[in-house]
Amino acid sequence: MSANVVIVGGGHAGGQAVASLRQGGFDGDITLVTAEQSLPYQRPPLSKAYLAGELPRERLLMRPSAFYEGAGVDVRLGIEVTGLDAGHRSLTLSDGGQLTYDHMILATGGRPRPLPCPGADHPAVHYLRTIADVDAMRPRFVPGACIVIVGAGYIGLEVAAVAIKHGLRPVVLEMAPMVLARVASPEVAGFFENVHRGAGVDLRTGVAVSAIEDRDGKAVVVSTAGDRIEADLVVAGVGLLPNVELAQAAGIDCDNGIVVDAFCRASASGVYAVGDCSNHPSRLYGRRLRLESVHNALEQAKTAAADICGKPLAYDQVPWFWSDQYELKLQTAGLSQGYDQVVIRGNMAMRSFAAFYLKDGRLLAVDAVNRPAEFTLAKRWIWDRKAPSPQQLGDDSIEAKALAV
Ligand code: FAD
Repeated sequence: MSANVVIVGGGHAGGQAVASLRQGGFDGDITLVTAEQSLPYQRPPLSKAYLAGELPRERLLMRPSAFYEGAGVDVRLGIEVTGLDAGHRSLTLSDGGQLTYDHMILATGGRPRPLPCPGADHPAVHYLRTIADVDAMRPRFVPGACIVIVGAGYIGLEVAAVAIKHGLRPVVLEMAPMVLARVASPEVAGFFENVHRGAGVDLRTGVAVSAIEDRDGKAVVVSTAGDRIEADLVVAGVGLLPNVELAQAAGIDCDNGIVVDAFCRASASGVYAVGDCSNHPSRLYGRRLRLESVHNALEQAKTAAADICGKPLAYDQVPWFWSDQYELKLQTAGLSQGYDQVVIRGNMAMRSFAAFYLKDGRLLAVDAVNRPAEFTLAKRWIWDRKAPSPQQLGDDSIEAKALAV
């Protein structure tokens, strides 16, 4: 009898694992168990085109239901895996069922970090992770409404941009002194702050939420600056907690995610972890990473599937990410943490530039705004650990593809 695989979690990573297993020739049973009611779908549009009402729900699906039927996959929607016995390779399900596995892929993703203040359970407070989250906030996401967005990371800023487009009145509160504080330089953060303020967003940095009170059904957001903002809708985008509890309770190593090796193998035999929930070694950056991006979720799923198919190939890639705000396409490659030099190429005022992050002359990362050529080239330079000189990078009179390494 051939081996079976159980995939826990049907996000980008879980969905890709199914496809890659079959593409890799795996012909045993595959069971996909996921807590959500939907087949695997794309999350990025949730804070972009889907929130804007420009993309119908069915277009969010990664693959149609016919794909899973054709692949012979036992898909269990709306079912949570509640227990894992890694010794006996068995799982307990929320519907009372049990499964056993030869290989299991944990693709459990993460959940929004809750707002840590009194009143955070007010009905006007919403989070943005699932289709259901967007649908739940939609009745309040109407022209003229005041929306307070807590956290100016990518999701918070994307929601602000859509809110402006839809005639809402967004107020963004960011605890750090600048937006995108975890990922961008002050130059790039300053650019996005100007764009949002110019579009009409009331953006306040260095301000946290101290409490949320109720006034006749509306939320009153009390800030650490002493302001009281009456809001129809509060959207919190203050980070993600990886879903590691299942693994942790089973004694599997976890440390800011489920700890895996270069082949996405976790510490228990037969168990893999991929996507937002996993923490992997990066050869490129010489440290462990837990990434939250579509690219990482897809590529790790391919890595685990390849290992199960007996064709192991270590996961070793340049991380990349994108964000859409207004007419701006931000594309980020690499990780900028630890940089000691930023080189700006292009023109921020024209909304077309690339910010290169270097450390000791080595290119670590790029933030490219409406500059796809620089993004693509930089991804390769980061991988090759060889890049043009800072002088060349900053000289926009040299065509990007003519930049010499
Ligand atoms: P998830 O998508 O979180 O999927 C995990 C699934 O597992 C969920 O359905 C969950 O319900 C289920 N699950 C968890 N525990 C269990 C259990 N015990 N039993 C059964 N099921 C379980 N990335 C980009 O690269 N670019 C972007 O522009 C971008 N925009 C984004 C916008 C938004 C609003 C959000 C929320 C994310 C965005 N991301 C973006 C991040 C990207 O979507 C994620 O990194 C990616 O979806 C992670 O996929 P995943 O499969 O690892 O986890």
